[in-house]
Amino acid sequence: MRLLLVEDEPNAARVIAKGLREHAYAVDVAADGEAAVMQVGTNDYDAIVLDVMLPRMDGLAVCRTLRGAGCEIPILMLTARDAIEARIEGLDAGADDYLVKPFDFGELLARLRALGRRRQPLAPERLVAGSLVLDTRAHRAWMEGREVVLTAKEYALVEYLARRAGEVVSRADIAEHVWDEHYDPLSNVVDVYVQRLRRKLDRPGAESLIRTRRGEGYQLWIEQAP
Ligand code: CA
Repeated sequence: MRLLLVEDEPNAARVIAKGLREHAYAVDVAADGEAAVMQVGTNDYDAIVLDVMLPRMDGLAVCRTLRGAGCEIPILMLTARDAIEARIEGLDAGADDYLVKPFDFGELLARLRALGRRRQPLAPERLVAGSLVLDTRAHRAWMEGREVVLTAKEYALVEYLARRAGEVVSRADIAEHVWDEHYDPLSNVVDVYVQRLRRKLDRPGAESLIRTRRGEGYQLWIEQAP
């Protein structure tokens, strides 16, 4: 999941982004409302965490602008304590949910998972793709019943491929959803991570779970139903 975090307060932005990255999210940060609208126009985000109080263009205006332009990305609004009106306005402006500052980080993660489920109603907490099982809440992975310990980034990559199991997924798509704006399109980091996953997931000598489709990308292989 790739997120846009819109927060003008540098300390808060850094702490929230760091926490989210530790939980396998790719996070871009925008420091004002106009920057946020521009970034949404150029990148394909899976969700937006949007502070209400922002310079240049506040969170409500950002929300209205995006919805007015037909953008359907789930938006979680961050509002100040006691600002009940702001919360109602936020939902009216097209936000999907809100969280009152200061919030518990675990609650932020839970709300984001809920937004992900709403967008993708078939994504359960337990994701099964052939002999691979993922716990999307605890970020744990099992291959043929044995647990495989993955880093946050490895997990994010395999979850993205598993959600699209059977499909050929391009490197550009993977980079867009698993990496953030610091991704260098000339780097081979996607291939490096696929290799790492193969070393962890595949049995020696067996055909890889993640197939290379030359010139197209990667495919998490599942046996087709008969
Ligand atoms: Ca703010």
